[in-house]
Amino acid sequence: MAIAKVEPLTTARALRGPFDYRLPLAMEDVEVGTILRVPFGPRRILGVVVALAERSELPPERLAEPIEALEAGATPELVRLGLWVAREYCSTPARGLGLVLPPGTGRSGGGPRPATDRHANLSAAGRAALSGGERLGARQRAVLEALLAAGGEAPALEVESAAGASGETLRRLAGRGLVELSRVERRRRPESVQVGGAHARVTLTAAQTAAVKALVAAIDGRAPGELLLHGVTGSGKTEVYLAAVEAALERGLGTIVLVPEIGLTPQALHRFRIRLGERVAVLHSALSDGERFDEWRRLRSGVARVCVGPRSAVFAPIAGLGLIIVDEEHDASYKQEGDPRYDARDVARHRAREEGAALVLGTATPRPESWAFMERLSLPERADGQALPRVEVLDMRGPGGAASLLHPRTRDGLARLGADGGKAIVLVNRRGFQVHVSCRSCGHAWSCPRCDVSLVVHRESGALRCHHCGHAEAVPERCPRCDSVAVARHGAGTERIAELVAEATGGLPVLRLDSDTAGRGGHLAILRRFHESPSGVLVGTQMVAKGHDFPDVVLAVVVDADATLRFPDFRAEERAFSLVAQLAGRSGRGPRGGRVLVQTLAPDAPAIAHAARHDAPGFLAGELERRRALRYPPFAQLVRVELTSESEDRVEAEAGRLASAVRGALPDGADLLGPAPRFRLRGRHRRQLLIKGTERRPLVDAVRAGVDAAVGRRLRDVTIVVDVDPH
Ligand code: ADP
Ligand code: ZN
Ligand code: ZN
Repeated sequence: MAIAKVEPLTTARALRGPFDYRLPLAMEDVEVGTILRVPFGPRRILGVVVALAERSELPPERLAEPIEALEAGATPELVRLGLWVAREYCSTPARGLGLVLPPGTGRSGGGPRPATDRHANLSAAGRAALSGGERLGARQRAVLEALLAAGGEAPALEVESAAGASGETLRRLAGRGLVELSRVERRRRPESVQVGGAHARVTLTAAQTAAVKALVAAIDGRAPGELLLHGVTGSGKTEVYLAAVEAALERGLGTIVLVPEIGLTPQALHRFRIRLGERVAVLHSALSDGERFDEWRRLRSGVARVCVGPRSAVFAPIAGLGLIIVDEEHDASYKQEGDPRYDARDVARHRAREEGAALVLGTATPRPESWAFMERLSLPERADGQALPRVEVLDMRGPGGAASLLHPRTRDGLARLGADGGKAIVLVNRRGFQVHVSCRSCGHAWSCPRCDVSLVVHRESGALRCHHCGHAEAVPERCPRCDSVAVARHGAGTERIAELVAEATGGLPVLRLDSDTAGRGGHLAILRRFHESPSGVLVGTQMVAKGHDFPDVVLAVVVDADATLRFPDFRAEERAFSLVAQLAGRSGRGPRGGRVLVQTLAPDAPAIAHAARHDAPGFLAGELERRRALRYPPFAQLVRVELTSESEDRVEAEAGRLASAVRGALPDGADLLGPAPRFRLRGRHRRQLLIKGTERRPLVDAVRAGVDAAVGRRLRDVTIVVDVDPH
């Protein structure tokens, strides 16, 4: 008897599969990875086959048969990967498997399907009819003639419009056997666009050639299979990736290329498609359901062998994988925010090991964990031989600084840009106009009624807004507590800086890039306008520091370099360093060279001082020492547990209970910190537990045991989120 072990695709944490089903003869080609519709109690649900067996623990009469097998499924390797993610990140099998299934699985109506077009074929009888004999109406004759002119076969819509006929005419002709109608699958093709410099094929530099050689050796299994490509901004990493992908393709091997959010870095994607053509598939959330489904199928069937996409592309259905590339490996978007909170870089490493593929992580600003433990390749210079731009650190504590938002030298630089032309990029940490409102008389500070954070003035929408929950209220004229009209507004976000920049340049066009200015596709439109404009300034949040390649940017400005440093988080230094160094890398990519101005209240902070010298190794050496001393990653593993509830009492009680349950199950040498309160968010009170140890598995196991027990108690109104390796 053939038994399928099926993991139900339901989100209930308490429900633990797999469950056995008996496979009838008609379903004998069911494999690991096949999606089945199965009876489940009184319901019918979807499930994934995670194993096949000859026998079941249950007697045959208690086994049900699946109702049907869906056409598209995952592969056995991907099923293993999905279940690994579920375990590793303390999630459920259903959630882990959800990552590896065809896009749209389980969506109502059965999810997306292949798109088809009607096609018309001229039959032999149709040809004969044209040369006489049969009686034909004028429309019918026109249709047959159009078909003949098209070589005997054409999409029905084209024939109809060429002949001025309707679908009805075609159906009549088909009924008489003069035309054959069929359906032909149509590929829904995602578009990609170029934003930024053009990229002709280049002759690789010596450093690039050496890097490609090392990557090819890794693909061939002759050298370390995991490499860190540390190349300064503009050193030509993408050309190295392209050459390595071509080498993999020549060997019949597939490649996954992970890139940060596509909306912000469309040109990476575009360069791969231009160079490698139809063998490239793309998978990302801006595609329509149909496009994503078709691209997935092109990979699954092997028509496409390279997948380019953001973090979820690490689950692309590619057989015979030879290489996984993670571009801009420092980018925070590789960590998934929702359950399962996987890190695509770690999933990539695991998948590469399991499937015998090479792994390369590339960046100008490596993470401490990559720097500490990976074999390195280095591209120390820009590909065009230009020097990296000079960085000037501007102390905002001094006279002239403290009083204003733009340092005199910044205003100077912008004024010169206005006079000489060219482009600048200005980075501000926050969006909005002013970031804090308070009463001068009584000290009342405007904060969100649902979150314990201050509200931000947005001038364009004329409202005070919460950046966490979207709460909005009118900008106040007087204090609700003491009725004073002395309402003070402090600080500056992108809106205000954009205004100051426009003034300082004497009227150069200023474009703003932040999450207020971009709807769907909006980012791209803004980047394109910046690219096409002969001169101007792009002002925005960290989005402007992504891997953009605009050759005519001659000035980059960081308005508040230490804003990220002030976060109470062990990664604050790492983030500040990479933000400043990455933004600096946007400047001076053309023949005119470039400069960088970094405004800061902490000019001596290592993150800022090293970024100003483009000195990643220097920063990383100190940072790794600090992490070792404080026992932080990569020298320790962290698991964060967050409990939230509308009731403060309940979250407090449950956090205490969970903490003692987990503490009891921890291995020696591991610690649990907390429960610690975190600021209220969306009306929910929060408590956090932080678990620290040397090995990840026992920590995750202890947490899982505690969480399962808590779920078993049927928590009312308390939500628990587990974040393994939090960011
Ligand atoms: P990175 O990804 O390291 O920031 P890119 O691959 O985007 O760098 O390359 C930066 C610029 O240098 C691009 O415009 C690219 O076309 C160009 N470039 C790359 N390699 C070479 C080369 N060997 N010779 C000349 N130009 C190159
Ligand atoms: Zn007041
Ligand atoms: Zn809020």
